[in-house]
Amino acid sequence: MADKGNGAVSGQKDLADWKLSPDWADWHWQLAHRITRPEEAARLLGLPEGALAGAAQAAETYPMAVTPYYLSLIDAKDANCPIRRMAIPDPAELNVTTDDIEDPSQEDSYSPLPAIIHRYPDRLLITGSLECATYCRHCFRKRKVGGKRENVSLADIRAGIAYIRENEAIRDVLISGGDPLMLNDDIIEDIVRELREIPHVELIRIGTRTPVTMPQRISDELLDRLKKYHPVWVNTHFNHPREFSPESERALARLADAGFPLGNQSVLLKGINDNVDTMRELIQLLVKNRVRPYYLYHCDYLPGLRHFRTPLSRGIELLEQLIGFTTGFAIPTYVIDAPGGGGKIPLAPDYFVKNAKDEIILKNFEGTHYPVHVTE
Ligand SMILES: *Cc1c(COP(=O)(O)O)cnc(C)c1O
Ligand code: SF4
Repeated sequence: MADKGNGAVSGQKDLADWKLSPDWADWHWQLAHRITRPEEAARLLGLPEGALAGAAQAAETYPMAVTPYYLSLIDAKDANCPIRRMAIPDPAELNVTTDDIEDPSQEDSYSPLPAIIHRYPDRLLITGSLECATYCRHCFRKRKVGGKRENVSLADIRAGIAYIRENEAIRDVLISGGDPLMLNDDIIEDIVRELREIPHVELIRIGTRTPVTMPQRISDELLDRLKKYHPVWVNTHFNHPREFSPESERALARLADAGFPLGNQSVLLKGINDNVDTMRELIQLLVKNRVRPYYLYHCDYLPGLRHFRTPLSRGIELLEQLIGFTTGFAIPTYVIDAPGGGGKIPLAPDYFVKNAKDEIILKNFEGTHYPVHVTE
């Protein structure tokens, strides 16, 4: 017993010592020290032996990697800690139901080149990297992201940029992945510069979860390099109020100060952010940090995500409890990436009650009915 106790304390001490070291602020150090085995996470968090039994097999199927920074946000005393559930493998990831498919949005059929997903007429997605600082257990691109899965090459990215150059209808380019900020500063700047040199590309967006999982990546040097190519929008992926820390808030402030308009896309996750108090706190923290909540995604029908999925109606109910009760622009659009490849479909509460003679009845956010005359 005494041995176990000492082991736990020494793990937590490692994490505390790491946090005090100047290396903590260096993203290369964070990447190099990622925790990739459940036993290692258990030791660092001081969890009792066997607490993460079953996680190893899930980690073999879907790779695990957690930055020391993101691991340090876990509340080791709470088995249902939202950060823990998003970062530490769970045996439930191996459960598959017959409805589940690897690529429900059929992205692969909209992929003319390895680095391109071209689903919409005037905009597309170019993959910068298929690696991420921390692998989300709820990832919707698990078929492509992480571990031994093949990454896009620089040649693939070049071919993608050439495709955009040749397609004059493309006015909006989303650099995503995986996480494109896993690339080094030289390469990410080259990509953004080359896109900016294309006359028909009006808008460049970068999708990155690093403000959440490795905020050290948002360095002044990176921002000085990228802000030359504005308008460059940054979309990030906060899911829970506990992901706000002095470090992540500083990363957001630096991005906003450098002129990057900020958006956030969350995934609606059962037991993590599917109640109104958590969701309200999340979106209010985002706007306080100058981030506009953009999309709230219904959790996709992928194998192994069932324990994260809510009924489709849950997102609509949440919006109903938020619209009118908090800042209008704090409310994200709830979308489902249509199974079968239809693209994003927005779902919203209905404020229409009924058609009556010469009027329609509408209800307001408090549920009170208001007749509106429809005659001219
Ligand atoms: C979401 C997405 C986009 C961007 O769509 P917006 O609704 O404009 O944010 C572009 N391409 C693909 C493949 C996407 O999934
Ligand atoms: S950051 Fe995005 S792509 Fe990477 S693991 Fe998380 S959800 Fe998947």
